[in-house]
Amino acid sequence: MSAKQAHIVLSIHLRTAPEATEAALKLNSHTLIVQASRLRKTYHSASDVEALRGVDLDIVRGEMLAVVGPSGSGKTTLLNCLSGLDRFDGGRVVVEGVDLAQMSDRERTAYRGSHMGFVFQAFNLLPVLTAVENVEIPLLLQGMGGREARRRALDMLETLGLANRAQHRPDTLSGGEQQRVAVARALVHRPAVVWADEPTGNLDTEVTEVIVELLIRMNREGQTIVLVTHNPVVAERARRVVRMRDGRIESQRAGEAIAAAERT
Ligand code: ADP
Ligand code: MG
Repeated sequence: MSAKQAHIVLSIHLRTAPEATEAALKLNSHTLIVQASRLRKTYHSASDVEALRGVDLDIVRGEMLAVVGPSGSGKTTLLNCLSGLDRFDGGRVVVEGVDLAQMSDRERTAYRGSHMGFVFQAFNLLPVLTAVENVEIPLLLQGMGGREARRRALDMLETLGLANRAQHRPDTLSGGEQQRVAVARALVHRPAVVWADEPTGNLDTEVTEVIVELLIRMNREGQTIVLVTHNPVVAERARRVVRMRDGRIESQRAGEAIAAAERT
């Protein structure tokens, strides 16, 4: 088993292994990128909805984690609370050593912009901007100069096989191309975590494959990715799968790669 795989296995077992040595704990704290404990969130609409009922979850640097579970089980709420998109009511989220609850809305927004990348089901590209202009947004928000931002955005589009679409507006691109642009935008500023909420939900099988391969490739290059998906084939490709039900984590299991490593 490689060192990276060891970290992942460790993170899964740590909570159930109080005898873990101090050295192992130290190792673990170095590689954890997100630590959520007893996370709770209630929506107050017509009736109160307890969307998260005490979620504990650790995410290790460099892992690809799939979150699955029935519609309404709290997957999107979990992603939004872990990534700083949304506030939560109880518990704690520490990202790269930073306690999200301690931040003001303004700080959280700035932190999110520079440290997080997002891919949504509905692509969420700005319609009046070209592909390359959409991709350079996170870089410009970080204060990078226009010329350098343009260069990096074009590089990223090229990496994703979209060099010849750079000057296209979203409405002249196919769904798969739009989602690749959205992936480019999520990755371009090398965020700590890319959060993808059903990124292939609106795409056909063939295009889904392209997007998933892309995410896997980026993960192999070290990008931490958390992916919500309904698609069992997509989930199977992740290193670890967390299953939600009724606002709680029902089960976790290592994906194929880890299972194989544990067998050897
Ligand atoms: P999933 O992504 O797994 O489908 P969600 O996190 O979107 O689940 O939703 C979890 C629960 O919270 C559901 O019961 C949903 O109806 C409810 N919910 C989500 N967003 C809101 C909201 N803005 N206001 C009220 N209830 C919400
Ligand atoms: Mg959802």
